[in-house]
Amino acid sequence: MSEQIPVHNVTPPARKDGDTVDLYASREKIYTRAFSGLFRNLRISGGIVLFLLYFGTVWLDWGGHQAVWWNLPERKFYIFGATFWPQDFILLSGILIVSAFGLFFITVFAGRVWCGYTCPQSVWTWIFMWCEKVTEGDRNQRMKLDKSPMSASKFTRKLAKHSLWLLIGLLTGLTFVGYFSPIRELVVDFITGQADGWSYFWVGFFTLATYGNAGWLREQVCIYMCPYARFQSVMFDKDTLIVSYDPRRGEKRGPRKKELDYKAHGLGDCIDCTMCVQVCPTGIDIRDGLQIECIGCAACIDACDTIMDKMNYPRGLISYTTEHNLSGQTTHTLRPRLIGYAAVLLVMIGVLTGAFFMRSLVGFDVSKDRVLYRENAEGRIENVYSLKVMNKDQVDHVYVLDATGLADLKLQGRREIRVPAGEIVTLPVELSVAPEQLPSSTNEVKFILRDVEHSGSEIQAKSRFIGPQVR
Ligand code: SF4
Ligand code: SF4
Repeated sequence: MSEQIPVHNVTPPARKDGDTVDLYASREKIYTRAFSGLFRNLRISGGIVLFLLYFGTVWLDWGGHQAVWWNLPERKFYIFGATFWPQDFILLSGILIVSAFGLFFITVFAGRVWCGYTCPQSVWTWIFMWCEKVTEGDRNQRMKLDKSPMSASKFTRKLAKHSLWLLIGLLTGLTFVGYFSPIRELVVDFITGQADGWSYFWVGFFTLATYGNAGWLREQVCIYMCPYARFQSVMFDKDTLIVSYDPRRGEKRGPRKKELDYKAHGLGDCIDCTMCVQVCPTGIDIRDGLQIECIGCAACIDACDTIMDKMNYPRGLISYTTEHNLSGQTTHTLRPRLIGYAAVLLVMIGVLTGAFFMRSLVGFDVSKDRVLYRENAEGRIENVYSLKVMNKDQVDHVYVLDATGLADLKLQGRREIRVPAGEIVTLPVELSVAPEQLPSSTNEVKFILRDVEHSGSEIQAKSRFIGPQVR
């Protein structure tokens, strides 16, 4: 006899007012409940470190300027002791690629820990939720407040909440712009109304972006807007750490008295208190299984562990686990995919570190004048060049210039070039040769720049010396 495939009706329910089907579900506001626990404490500690880094780094000085500073007008990027120029952007791209691989590695190993603990969207959302709790109360109070008609008390609470949100947004925006425009001057100019229009525009833009993302959009950003959320599920395997409910232990769920011999009544450990749902910032029920909305924040673990403690049941009904663990199989921590990511990551970090320390700290560029050649008062053939010397180091350098490539080659102009730290010096120089010494009408010449004070290293740049036709 042939087996029949079971069929489930997945048609969305019709609206009450007719037979048309509403495919658009408007967002339901999520009222999260306050909770405590190990993972919450970890998140707060991590959040404080990130906050200090974000708000504090911008105020540090290094080598006479802001320690981390995207100086866009001069096209220089300072990160503490290192200065990056447009030519070094390959290194910055490398840093981004290494960061992406680091994220892949972490995702394969521990799922969405980045989302739950360190993503700015999550960190700022948790802070905004805290402001909400301080001004409007906990979950039930907020629900009641939203249902109540407008009153002086409601207005004051809402005003306080939005003011706090805007203040945090403003500090975030000001700090962000401060990474591009020196923060000390920016803050003073901003307050005194002396800042330029673009500064006001960008601070306003990032203030509103923070206010909108962390205050209003929240989980919508993670669910619908974040590209990382979309593609990371393909990186998961059955050994990736996920936040999961153990249905074998939890079902059959149901309320009961603490002292009841629930197992004798066919009940599992889940008392169906819905605390795990009430604390979830994305409003999902983890008991329904792994869902794309889950950002792995572990709030439901903390909430459920508290309930388990109250019931005197063992902790871990919701826990960090793996699909293999849940199905009773062994979890393989070291697996080919993870080892592959780790190996690629280590190689890339090695290459990047090598490239960083081996990069030349002097840039040298020679361009020849458009006038092909001229004869000077001594009857020598003369070519004019423009030299550009770029000091990428944090200290001043003195270079000595020389030129080779032709017999009787004379260099006129400055031989000693002092280039301040992080600056570019452009200077004209002339080379001259007696016409009878020219082997050809176009000849290769080399400019040599020696760093006499520091490394003694030299850098060369080639150019052409043009003369009249040689018979
Ligand atoms: S918090 Fe734990 S006990 Fe309560 S509903 Fe969730 S899984 Fe069940
Ligand atoms: S289900 Fe749990 S881990 Fe996932 S987002 Fe909700 S509270 Fe966080």
